[in-house]
This record gives sequence, C-alpha cells and structure tokens, in this order.
Amino acid sequence: MTSDHEKQPLSPIELGLKARCPRCGKGPLFQQVLNMRDRCTSCGLDYKFIDTGDGPAVFAIFILGFVVLGGALWVQLTYDTPLLLTVLLSGIVTLILALGLLRFLKAVLIALQYRNKAEEGRLAKGE
Ligand SMILES: [Zn+2]
Repeated sequence: MTSDHEKQPLSPIELGLKARCPRCGKGPLFQQVLNMRDRCTSCGLDYKFIDTGDGPAVFAIFILGFVVLGGALWVQLTYDTPLLLTVLLSGIVTLILALGLLRFLKAVLIALQYRNKAEEGRLAKGE
C-alpha cells in the first residue's frame, strides 16, 4: 500500500503533523522551525512551486485568538489570578502555540497545494 504514492495520496493532516514533503512524505519541509528547504532531501521535489502566502497566518490568527483569549478569560474568571500574570502567561502561550500551529498549518496548506496543483491564475496556457 505505502509503496505506491500515486494511487494512495498521503493525508494532508498527517503530512502537516510530521511537516514532510508532499510528494514522498519522507523528506522534511523545514529547516529549524519555519524556514523552507530548497528541495526534498528524499525524492528531490523542488519546493519552489510552494506559495502559501498569508494563508497559514490567517488561520493561525483565527484559531489562536479564539483559544488564547478564551483560555485567558477562563483562567482569570475561574482562579482570579493577578491580571498581569494572566497577560504574561497568555503572551508566552501564544508564542509557543503560534510556532507549532504555523508549522502545522503551513505544511498542511503545502500538501493541499501540491495535491490540488493550485497556482496563480493565468490568462493564457503555456505562457
Ligand atoms: Zn519528497
């Protein structure tokens, strides 16, 4: 089953969690945390086609805004912590979650872009 990737497409969610190449699912997408590599170290897929733009950031803002603000309000109202502590903790939690979430979302969007062959619109074919 896993030997034929053409017939059995890899799940974008799984690729997102592992941050792997959208074609072979083996080579890593990123150097360090969020820097893109030039090509896949496993199958040689050129990563130049990738253009997720602001997509991952927009999703991350919506998700994190909801989760962190909701969490901060809940902590504040439930445990009556000092306001400054809640604000500081929210900031730290946001930073950590944002990096993990951006990495995941970017890899998912790359996998979806690769699978659906999405690219910028053109007026004429073959230009
Ligand atoms: Zn690859």
